[in-house]
Amino acid sequence: MLQNDTVAAATANSAAAPSATNASPASLRVATHSEGTAALSAAVPRPRARPNLLTGAQEQTAIRYNRGKRFSRETIRGYQNVVRTPDDGDFGPNTVEAIARFQSQNGLEVDGKIGPATKRTLDAQVHHDAPTPNQPEPEPDADPQPVRDGGLTAHFALNEFRSKDGAGFPRSVIPVLRELAENLEVLRAEVGPIGITSGYRSPAHNRAVGGAKNSYHVRGMAADITVAGMTPRQVRAKVLSLIASGRMKQGGIGLYSTFVHYDTRGYAARW
Ligand SMILES: [Zn+2]
Repeated sequence: MLQNDTVAAATANSAAAPSATNASPASLRVATHSEGTAALSAAVPRPRARPNLLTGAQEQTAIRYNRGKRFSRETIRGYQNVVRTPDDGDFGPNTVEAIARFQSQNGLEVDGKIGPATKRTLDAQVHHDAPTPNQPEPEPDADPQPVRDGGLTAHFALNEFRSKDGAGFPRSVIPVLRELAENLEVLRAEVGPIGITSGYRSPAHNRAVGGAKNSYHVRGMAADITVAGMTPRQVRAKVLSLIASGRMKQGGIGLYSTFVHYDTRGYAARW
């Protein structure tokens, strides 16, 4: 690390000098890998992550159209979460571009507008965690040393359940997550590796994505799962049969277009 920093600093100095136009490919490579040197950022234009799908005029039209729908901020955040753009609860150019990409990926008309067809497709993917009994959320802020890493069970690591905002795990959540993972091990033995698209959610992240207030994700009792080569409907059928035979714990099962929600609440809830 130290050596790289030294090289980057040296390159930054030479980039500021008049001979910068003669920068060799090697020094440009160093520049690309180094961060935080303003002179180099200016000298090496960053490629756009993705091309825009809409013209500027189309973006503005879509923003006006979507704002005119008067969706609640929570609803907009849910949609932003589905289309993988920062969830600030408002429509702007980045959000309508993300909606356009979502439309393109889902075979919809690509205009950035949340018309009836796009809304139906979005709604099917917004995560509505089932309402839960009045139990307090765990208070991670009261935990001075959240757990950052480690193994949970034979095939699941804590990291796979990490909250998307990068928050650590409150200690009280670990045994709860382990019980969840042990149940997922039973499913894994039948169907193979399981992808966890959402596991633990910190209270802050849960609020940001418009999750249910007492979401089981916040308590470490829920996972949204996918299995390669199986549809969500097939995964759900497998979980149902494993619960029926007493091998997986009774709980909540939610079917979504791209994943299945499973939680270990201890009584049957289906949606
Ligand atoms: Zn879920």
